[in-house]
Amino acid sequence: MEAIATIRRPRKIKCSRILYGELINSFSSYGCPICRLTRHAEEKAITTLMYERVNDPSTRNQLLRSNGFCPFHAWMVVELYRRGPDTSIEPLGLTIILADILKHEINNIKKDNLASSPAGECIICKIARETEKSYLDSFINCINDKLLKEYSTGKSILCIKHYALISLNLYDINKELAKKLKEIQLNKLNKLYTTALQYIKKTDYRSIIEPSNDEATAWFRILEFLDGYKTSTIIKSC
Ligand SMILES: [Zn+2]
Ligand SMILES: [Zn+2]
Repeated sequence: MEAIATIRRPRKIKCSRILYGELINSFSSYGCPICRLTRHAEEKAITTLMYERVNDPSTRNQLLRSNGFCPFHAWMVVELYRRGPDTSIEPLGLTIILADILKHEINNIKKDNLASSPAGECIICKIARETEKSYLDSFINCINDKLLKEYSTGKSILCIKHYALISLNLYDINKELAKKLKEIQLNKLNKLYTTALQYIKKTDYRSIIEPSNDEATAWFRILEFLDGYKTSTIIKSC
């Protein structure tokens, strides 16, 4: 948690209404809103790249500097491809991009121009980092009683990392709202804990009541609260 405490965001600045709306919408789904929106941005960035930026010289240059995608996003590309036709990952776009990088690497090996790590940052990592920051800033800068009410009644639960980042910065800006957020967060976590206990109780052989789906999946929501969702900003900060 030490690293988190040092990342303080700037003092209150203008609220983005678009990002505010996206945050409010995300509260109705399970999981951490910041993690899920970041993951969505990563997936969207990959599909956009495949379709619209395959022949963009600046994108191609960035991809060459980073040796393509980082391992996390390389395997996200594979995951999206395997998910099926709806994800818009086409072998043609992928092959054009990867063949270009392969040619570049063949030339590097010929010239003994070797490096153990890429010269540039993965293009999708950069987008994920910026997206995570935008939504965190929006949560902090747009926070009001309406946002808190929506968060309070929604299914979503901020993960440890994102709750800490929001809370630490919010105490600097508005202590009252920070306290309200803390109360809501604790209420959500206590409910989740009770749901998990209910599942344990109902799986006892003496129990005659079947656990609900909500109770049977409590472990997943606890895991996501503790570890966040599968984004590069979460996985790479381990
Ligand atoms: Zn999160
Ligand atoms: Zn990456």
